Amino acid sequence: MKIPITIAYGDGIGPEVMEATLAILQAADAPIEPDKIEIGESVYQRGFTSGIEPSAWDSLRRTKVFLKAPITTPQGSGYKSLNVTIRKTLGLYANVRPCVAYAPFVHTRHPDMDVVIIRENEEDLYAGIEHRQTDQVMQCLKLITRPGCEKIVRYAFEYSRLHNRRKVTCMTKDNIMKLTDGLFHRVFNEIAAEYPEKQIEHLIVDIGAARLADTPERFDVIVTPNLYGDILSDIAAQIAGSVGLAASANLGEKIAMFEAIHGSAPDIAGQGLANPSGLLLAAVMMLVHIGQPVTAARVQNAWLTAIEDGQHTFDIYTEGVSQTRLDTHKFAQAVIDRLGRHPQQLPAVSYAQSRDLAAERPAHKVVPRPPARKELVGVDVFVHWQSGGPNDLGALLEGLNGGGLKLTMVTNRGVKVYPNGFPETFCTDHWRCRYMATASTITHSQIIELLQRFEQAKLDFIKSENLCKFDGEAGYALGQGQ
Ligand code: NAD
Repeated sequence: MKIPITIAYGDGIGPEVMEATLAILQAADAPIEPDKIEIGESVYQRGFTSGIEPSAWDSLRRTKVFLKAPITTPQGSGYKSLNVTIRKTLGLYANVRPCVAYAPFVHTRHPDMDVVIIRENEEDLYAGIEHRQTDQVMQCLKLITRPGCEKIVRYAFEYSRLHNRRKVTCMTKDNIMKLTDGLFHRVFNEIAAEYPEKQIEHLIVDIGAARLADTPERFDVIVTPNLYGDILSDIAAQIAGSVGLAASANLGEKIAMFEAIHGSAPDIAGQGLANPSGLLLAAVMMLVHIGQPVTAARVQNAWLTAIEDGQHTFDIYTEGVSQTRLDTHKFAQAVIDRLGRHPQQLPAVSYAQSRDLAAERPAHKVVPRPPARKELVGVDVFVHWQSGGPNDLGALLEGLNGGGLKLTMVTNRGVKVYPNGFPETFCTDHWRCRYMATASTITHSQIIELLQRFEQAKLDFIKSENLCKFDGEAGYALGQGQ
């Protein structure tokens, strides 16, 4: 019986690499039944701002498996990223990107590199919640949730257990973002305790990225929030040899999407130059996912043999190492000719033990927790103001004290400027004014009354953030100078 999958040919080199990939899958007798949908440039041009037609979702919901060629994302603020839309709409929370060196057949400075980046795929700064708040200031909201952290961290540990990986490294920037990245790090420590056989480490992402670029051999599985994962996984793919070789899987509880990591490469489109390996290796991950581990290994071992035999596309062709420089179509044929063979020097793959982690409950288990005891203890009111310096604003704001709330500080871009600010601090037109309860807690009405006093004072408040304690612990950064 054939397994239905949804496919999209994409833009630029997309159709070329998709045709090559499907030819290899067909020759390997992969039991798939592709259903083609249209995405990308032509769909954007027809006025669908996310690059996908409403009817395409029906196919994705039906097959629950998507093999996607790259698309061209139009420039301009009117368009949404198709990838981000698909990931978030379908709940594809885990982005898994293996970055492996194929030395000495593909040039790399890191012949022993074998790293898997597991990137959280739905949260962080990618929520797309951005606002212009003042003349000078734009804001992007970073959202990190406990269930989101638990799902991705557990996935990373389950992945490393299934694939016999020795170590899991977490990378965050929790020395600066103590609440958001701090939560990711804390959840990592909690879940790591359930996998005592694994070596674990946490690195601040800046030094982590530097070490990954310098000595990738010291890493094994890396789990990280969305933005860092986006950057780290491109670094890892590039230093492994070529972005043209790397594949990624986007996995959710119900649906999965598989794609090459490269884009639509308009500079070489239509010339038969494209390396189809990224999409082919994505298709191998897809075959494992749909329960076809034998065919998956057959395809990948044929591909490894072609690479080892020096059958190379132009992007990885090296004089003295490569045997033949092939176009996209002939490279696909070289892989087809090697179906049934195993590489001699590169390690052959076997997926006999593989299971579909994303479809298993343990991989996305979220621990239910009772709600915390929440107390409202203050409010940060943000204002757009440009009529003087910090002390002028401070004096105005002191005048709004009352109703159980008292001004404790004013910050500008997070730096305390009142009371006792430094004259050297550069100030924009965007101010955070912190009022704390004079008794232990306040009510929402007291905040509304405070905002009414702001309005009467003709202060342009642009937003407010409630300051709460959760089980007695402050749910807000204390702010510099406190
Ligand atoms: P790109 O990955 O398309 O190309 C970067 C460079 O790598 C180019 O020189 C290109 O020729 C080369 N290259 C890429 N894939 C190759 C392959 N398979 N074989 C040989 N060489 C290859 O990145 P870009 O130029 O920054 O982006 C082009 C378009 O692709 C943009 O519109 C971008 O938004 C889009 N994009 C789409 C996806 C996706 O659909 N998943 C991902 C990244 C970029």
